[in-house]
Formats: sequence, structure tokens, C-alpha cells
Amino acid sequence: MADKVKVVVASRNKHKIREIKDMLSHLSLDIQAVNEVANLPDVIEDGETFSANAIKKAVETARAVGYLTLADDSGLEVDALNGQPGVYSARFAGEPSDDGKNNQRLLDLLAHIPCEQRTARFRCVIALAWPNGDTRICSGTCEGMIGFEPEGDNGFGYDPLFIVPEYNRTFAQLTGSIKNQISHRYRALVQLEKVLAGEFMKKSVDR
Ligand code: IMP
Repeated sequence: MADKVKVVVASRNKHKIREIKDMLSHLSLDIQAVNEVANLPDVIEDGETFSANAIKKAVETARAVGYLTLADDSGLEVDALNGQPGVYSARFAGEPSDDGKNNQRLLDLLAHIPCEQRTARFRCVIALAWPNGDTRICSGTCEGMIGFEPEGDNGFGYDPLFIVPEYNRTFAQLTGSIKNQISHRYRALVQLEKVLAGEFMKKSVDR
């Protein structure tokens, strides 16, 4: 049987890593977080777009570790805030990143915004990079509404405020397995699966 393809996840966010490992568990991949493979400094996320940050994290890490690497850059876009916090989602309330403070800042900024104007989406861009610098990009979104108070204990980040209309529940009230069937990250990973299938079929035909 062919060896599993090793894929490094260029993230230190244990929630993201768990979701990515769970959602790709049906594939014949050996998925390891960057911390399990090497002791590297953080990649500085100074891009102005999710794609720029995802590519930077994936390419720098792939070059350093010498393995196929994927990086997820994601965040929340709130329509009443003209797309904020966007790429600044992790640090919306300043450094160091604090989910509770980020959620409180969001609630404060939306305090006078009525229900029907609290539309938002999560966006996820996943970059796949080879050690030679080749990259592929995948992306996904999930539409929802921002609640008036945190609800639920699952997940991470803005999950307690993000209501999925189809379920009338926040991501934090849904189980991980339901979130992983509808999320922005799931939708990006569905594309990634197609990219991986194409790449590895191509390689076996080229041989
Ligand atoms: P990144 O590590 O720069 O991509 O930061 C992503 C930030 O966006 C996280 O710290 C969260 O605040 C937010 N975020 C991204 N994806 C999710 C999610 O699935 N649930 C909740 N918050 C998320």
C-alpha cells in the first residue's frame, strides 16, 4: 500500500488544527501540526487579505519543514461594520489575541444595530504549498447573523455569537460534527480535497 502523504498544518490554533484533522480524516494523509514537526518562530501575518496571509504562512512553513503544507487564514466579516474585523479577527480587541475581548468588542460596536442588519459571514482561505514554492488556493464562506449575547460552549473565536439561520443556533451551540458539515473551513477543505486528488492522480499518471 502506498505511504500516506504527509501534510503539515501551519497553525498553532489547536481548535483549527482539530477541525482540519477531523474533516480530512477520511483521506490517506498523515496530517501533523507544525509544532509536531519543527520548532519554528511564528510567521508574521502582515498581509491585507486572507489569501496573502494564508500563502505566506503556507510557503514559509513548507520551505522550512520540507513537506507539503496547508495554512488556513480565516475570519469574520460583519456587513454593518463594512466587513470588519476581517483579516484582523484574531486581534480585533488588541494583542494578545483574546476571544472573550474580541466578542465583547463586536457586541459593543453592534449595540444599536437591529436584528435584520446583523448579517455576517465567516470566510476561510486555505493555501497549500510545496517546499519548492508552488501553491494552490481554496476558499469557503458560511453566512450567518451576529447574536446579541454569547450562546453555547463549543468551538472557539466568534462561534458563540455566530448564528446559523438554518439551525437558529450559534456555531458554539452546534456539535463539532455539524459545524464541520457546513462551516467556511469545511467548504474550503472540500475544494482542497479536489486539488489534492488532481495533484496526486496527475503525479501517478506522469510517472
Ligand atoms: P487567523 O489565525 O489569523 O486565521 O485568525 C482567525 C481568527 O478568526 C480566529 O482567531 C477567530 O477569532 C476567527 N475565526 C476563524 N475561524 C473561526 C471559526 O471557525 N469560528 C470562530 N472564529 C473563527
